[in-house]
Formats: sequence, structure tokens, C-alpha cells
Amino acid sequence: TTSEIGLLGLGTMGAALALNIADHGFDIAVYNRTTAVTRDFKRDAGDLSDRITPTESLQDFVAAIAKPRAIILMVPAGDPVDQQIAALRPLLDDDDLIIDAGNANFHDTNRRAREAGDKPFLGIGVSGGEEGARFGPSIMGGGKKASWDRVAHILTAIAADHEGTPCATWMGEEGAGHFVKAVHNGIEYADMQMIAEVYGILRDGMGLDNAAIAAVFDRWNAGPLKSYLIEISARVAEAKDTDTGRPLLDIITDAAGQKGTGRWTAIEAQHLGAPVPAIEAAVAARNLSAARNLRKIGEEMYGAAPQPLDGALSEDQLEQALIAGKIICYAQGFQMISAASTQFGWKLPLPDIARVWREGCIIRSVMLDDMATALTQTPDENLMFAAKFADDLKANHTALRQVVAQAALHGLAVPALSSGLAYFDTMRTARGTANMLQGQRDYFGRHGFERLDRDGKDYHGPWAD
Ligand code: NDP
Repeated sequence: TTSEIGLLGLGTMGAALALNIADHGFDIAVYNRTTAVTRDFKRDAGDLSDRITPTESLQDFVAAIAKPRAIILMVPAGDPVDQQIAALRPLLDDDDLIIDAGNANFHDTNRRAREAGDKPFLGIGVSGGEEGARFGPSIMGGGKKASWDRVAHILTAIAADHEGTPCATWMGEEGAGHFVKAVHNGIEYADMQMIAEVYGILRDGMGLDNAAIAAVFDRWNAGPLKSYLIEISARVAEAKDTDTGRPLLDIITDAAGQKGTGRWTAIEAQHLGAPVPAIEAAVAARNLSAARNLRKIGEEMYGAAPQPLDGALSEDQLEQALIAGKIICYAQGFQMISAASTQFGWKLPLPDIARVWREGCIIRSVMLDDMATALTQTPDENLMFAAKFADDLKANHTALRQVVAQAALHGLAVPALSSGLAYFDTMRTARGTANMLQGQRDYFGRHGFERLDRDGKDYHGPWAD
């Protein structure tokens, strides 16, 4: 028998995705560079084993898949993807489809799509970690629409489901899917960082213990902040170390790792001229977190920064600040996606993007449901100006200001929240301060400026001569 689809790379994500595909009734051929992994995978597949054809050479793998073939690559991003494409192509027919489902940089996906020419190639972003891949990820596809349509029945079947709507969508040509996945990860960094900052206020400003902090997050998870990240923050806060019985959070080192996808989003945003300061602040915060030795020297030199808040803030204010911060952070992410549409000639579907993020992915939340609705009504607007979120920001920005102000007065670092507030204030200031920048630029570099009271561009100040 021939399989409907093939999957190469039975690592964490590939194995979970292959089981998910088999679980939805599709016969799948699998191949892994290390053969023992393939054998173990087949052996451990249980009831799903009948739908899985293990293969031990690329030739056998290709021969096991029905024509025209569709092959998913789930190998580390970068060179392994190019190597596997190069190894497979000579064995394939011209109409066989290769799908890179790893975390590729979208520039690489653009290049691979062009290199593929008329041969079908898709780059799809898959979010939700191992659990998502096994039981329903969020899938962001890029490439030729006709190629997407060939496998859409499989990808929508295995994707997460939101009240009957699958969280799998074609985003546009070439690297569009991987681009959207990257912005997802950037938003994820900022969302996580804002939660961590509020955790810091609860811990250092309010003196709550881990169990009390977990209870706060659990309470918030029943309201507007309901989301996977708030939920798991509660689970992390209440967890005990199995060896020592101590609260786990108290023994986890305060230096964050990163695979670089958030950093990449910040860099790309700079190239696009699309401001995402909350994401940039989150990336910088992770980088600063790694400088533990320097922070220790700083504390010895200046004294510890955080001071008790002595009742200056309430838990409700923190919740409201997080609501406002989250809206502002997503507004930035969606604006970046809009900018990319213009820059790269894509028509990235903002409402659909909010929809595929509602389930399956790390940033899934009830707020994304409202964002999908708001972006459907006013697709090209900054989310800050969509009626529903304007109301939410009007109701909550004062709390964000209070939290940032009190945090500053008490030495509690809240870089993502405060950058969110600065963005908000900038976006509601019609007369800004860049007239001073233009004056300075003209003074030292004769760069010229425009005037409010006259047409034309190249005006200079009296220093010009
Ligand atoms: P793993 O390290 O668990 O698995 C990697 C797989 O790729 C293994 O099957 C490995 O085979 C194979 N492989 C590695 N190098 C090569 C190569 N040069 N040629 C052929 N095969 C190779 O990785 P993950 O499953 O975690 O990640 C896969 C992709 O999915 C990455 O792009 C990752 O960024 C992305 N991703 C991961 C998520 C996660 O939560 N882990 C979430 C979303 C995306 P072998 O057994 O022989 O070593």
C-alpha cells in the first residue's frame, strides 16, 4: 500500500506530528536519518501502528508515498532543511510537494521557494510545542495556494479546532507562513515578559509567596486574561521541586534562554520600520537576565532595588495593567504584520491570523477571539483603535500608568510594561517631539525639514549659512 503523505525527521515535533496525522486516519510513511529511531517509533505507535509505514532509505521512503507526493520535513531549521531538499529532489517527480514544517527564517523560505521554481514547495509554521503537534497545533502556511490546497485537508484535520474552525490557514506566498510564525513568537516573548514583570511585583513589591501568586494567576485566568500563558504561570508558581520539596520557582535560575526567534522578530521589525518596542524590551530583558554576575555587582554597589510597595498597588490594578499591556503588545505585532504585507507584496490576512492563534499555539487566549472579530470589522487599523480594544484601553490604561509609576518609584523593573505605556502615550500625542530631532538634524547635517505652515520639503534653519 502507498501512504497519502510522508514525514522525514522523527524528533520531538516530527514524531508527534506523524502520530497526529495517523490519528486522523491518514496513512503516513516515515523516515529518520537514524534508523533505530524509526524502528522505535513504529514499535511504540500502538493502535496507530497500522497506518504508519517505516522506511530505512530515502528511496524506500519516496516509493512508499502515493503520487503526486507530499513530504513534510521536520528537521532543525537551517542547513539540514537544504540538505534534505537536495537529497530528496532527484528522487522526486516535478509535481511532488516538499513542505518545510520547522522553524525556518522566512528569508530562507523565500529563497527555497524561488529555488524550487515550478516544483511545489510550502513553508509552514507549526506552533504549540510537542503537545500541540500531537493533539492540534496552530498552522501558518506559506507558498503557492494550489500547493496548500493539495494538503489542506490533512493540515486542517490535524490542526487545533476553535468551535469548529480549524487553526490552519494559508497566509500567502513563499515565506508568509514562517513570517507569521515568527511574529507569533515575538508576541509570545512580550506576553511572557509582561507576566514575569507582574510576578516580580507580586513577589518583591507585595511579598506574596508562590502559592499566593499561583492563586492570583488562577483568578485572572477566569477573566479577560484567560490564556494558556497565564494558566501555565499558575502551574509553574505552585510547583514543588520533586527532589527537595522546595517551591520550584525559588530554585530556578533567573537567566532566560532563547532560541532567537523573538530577537529575530525585533530585528526584522527594525528593517521594516515597524515599531514593536514591547517585543524589543522583552528580548533585551532576556539578554539582561543572562548577565547575572553583573547584576550581582550592581546590587552590591547600589543596594538592592526592589522596595515593598506598602499597599501602593492592588491586585486588580495589576490585572488591568496586564490587560492594557497585552492589547498594546498585540497591536504592535499586528501592525508589524501589516507593514510586512506592504513591504513584501503579501496580503497577510490579519483576522485569519488572529483566528489561527485562538487555539493550539502558545499565545492562545480568549482575547484573540475578540481580536479576530475586531480585525474582521476594521482589518487595516491598529488594534488600539478598534472599538472593542479602545474601550478596554480606556478602562485600563490608568492602571497601567499606576503600575509603571509605582514600579519605578519602588525600584521594580518593568521594561515591557513601561515600553507599552510609552507606546500608548506616543500614539495618543498628535503633536510629538520629533520637530526637535528635525531641527537638530538640520543643524548638524543640513538634512532639511518640512514646515507645518507651508508646502514643500527642503527648509533650513537660520544656521544654514
Ligand atoms: P529534534 O532535535 O527533536 O529532532 C530533530 C530531527 O531532525 C531528528 O529526527 C533528527 O534525526 C533530524 N535531523 C537533525 N539533523 C538532520 C540532518 N542534518 N539531516 C536529516 N535529519 C536531521 O527537533 P524538534 O522536533 O524539536 O524540532 C524540529 C523543528 O521544529 C525545528 O525547526 C524546530 O525549531 C521546530 N519546532 C520545534 C518546536 C518544539 O517545541 N520543539 C515547536 C515548533 C517548531 P536523528 O534522529 O537522526 O538525529
